[in-house]
Amino acid sequence: MQNLSDLVYKYIMANISRRDFLKLGGAALLGLAGTRFIPKQAEGDYFNAPLLWHGSRSYKNIAVTYDDCNSLTRLQRVETLLDEFPKFKVTFFPIGLKLPDLDARDKGIWKRLVNKGHEIGYHSYEHVNLGVMSLAGALEDFDRWRDALVNALGMDYRVRFVRPPYDIISPTLDLLCQERGLVAALFSVGGGGAPDVVLRAIQKAKGGDIVQMHIRTEDYESSKLAFPWLKENYWDLVTMSALYDNYLREKINSNGCDVGNGLTRTCVE
Ligand SMILES: [Zn+2]
Repeated sequence: MQNLSDLVYKYIMANISRRDFLKLGGAALLGLAGTRFIPKQAEGDYFNAPLLWHGSRSYKNIAVTYDDCNSLTRLQRVETLLDEFPKFKVTFFPIGLKLPDLDARDKGIWKRLVNKGHEIGYHSYEHVNLGVMSLAGALEDFDRWRDALVNALGMDYRVRFVRPPYDIISPTLDLLCQERGLVAALFSVGGGGAPDVVLRAIQKAKGGDIVQMHIRTEDYESSKLAFPWLKENYWDLVTMSALYDNYLREKINSNGCDVGNGLTRTCVE
């Protein structure tokens, strides 16, 4: 039996040449997101939308993500820390309530984070388990959250990722992803913990890992310990979008780290 990545490869190659595909940028890859031809990593048979526990193992990058974002001062501390590492980009998963709230108290904070190259993903409006919602309810919740984000940013914004509250994977999440073209972003490292424990976990990270943190003091301290180590050890900290685009590239080019195709690759040794 053929595996899924082979099927994806064949589907896309039937439409465009491999060389042309490799020239596609993020915007074009983005156009593929949310289609049923994206390789999936879901547990169980029912989940049809793309669901990611980690990215490609062939790239020396990881995605650090911060959920909830309900404290302004703690978010500002993370922003200041990130400013010390201008190449490091992360993804925030704020709840909708905090989008207007934090923007009112620090005007332009979300736009500033986006302008610095960070990404913002959906985490429900009021931190409710999407699994207990009907599809209609979840769609309404997502649209309300996205409107709050667009309002805070003062510009349109393509939301690509959802981190389900309480990390609960559900049929409603699956349908929401399909309806709104979202990728469910779970994680391969994380859940928080004491900073020295988190640092050790990150030091053992593999290429493509997704790290889950929250905007809380402990995770700020963990980030403060981990960022210098990651920089010294030549890790790239990338947004979920960058991680996912590399994942899609690998699924299309299953040779992994080969070069000479016009792409810059950094492979894990
Ligand atoms: Zn949360």
